[in-house]
Amino acid sequence: MRGFETGPRILIVDSHGQPVRWAELPRAARYYASGKVVNDLGDAVFAMNGGIQKSLGTPSTLHASSIVMIRGRCRSPAGGYRVALSKHRLFARDRHVCAYCGATFPDGELTVEHIVPLSRGGRNDWTNVVTACRPCNTRKGNRAPEEANMPLLYVPYAVSRNEGFILSNRRILADQMAFLQASLPRHSRWAQS
Ligand SMILES: [Zn+2]
Repeated sequence: MRGFETGPRILIVDSHGQPVRWAELPRAARYYASGKVVNDLGDAVFAMNGGIQKSLGTPSTLHASSIVMIRGRCRSPAGGYRVALSKHRLFARDRHVCAYCGATFPDGELTVEHIVPLSRGGRNDWTNVVTACRPCNTRKGNRAPEEANMPLLYVPYAVSRNEGFILSNRRILADQMAFLQASLPRHSRWAQS
């Protein structure tokens, strides 16, 4: 089973439709093989070589749906599910738009901007960070937005579990996106309009 590292990722959800993880094809195949799959929910089906069937001596083919529901319930940890803050997820949350000038940039030209600077007690969490281009970040420097006279063009927000899954897969398929979008809060920039 080589060559699947860059292939599609399967969205694994629990019996309540709660996303559990992104899985590469071989891992998804193990869910099927162990009888854990209760439903195929995706539009796309991926095939892969499943090895040799002993009885027939011919290669078998395994199929995996793009969204797979497995048995059981994935419990959220006490205190709720937290999506780890990373710069790639932040840029994706903010759709690569600078919060100060409103222009769109590629990853390499963006920075994680702390609205209240860390040096002044600002926290490194979702509600205190926005995406900013390098020139805007430099211009703002170690000041609060009011002091710099640089108002935010959009509001930062904590990312929900489903949105975290969207932000963690850059090659998400249309049906996976629609599934995860179905339960996003309205303030999300990934919610369907
Ligand atoms: Zn900017």
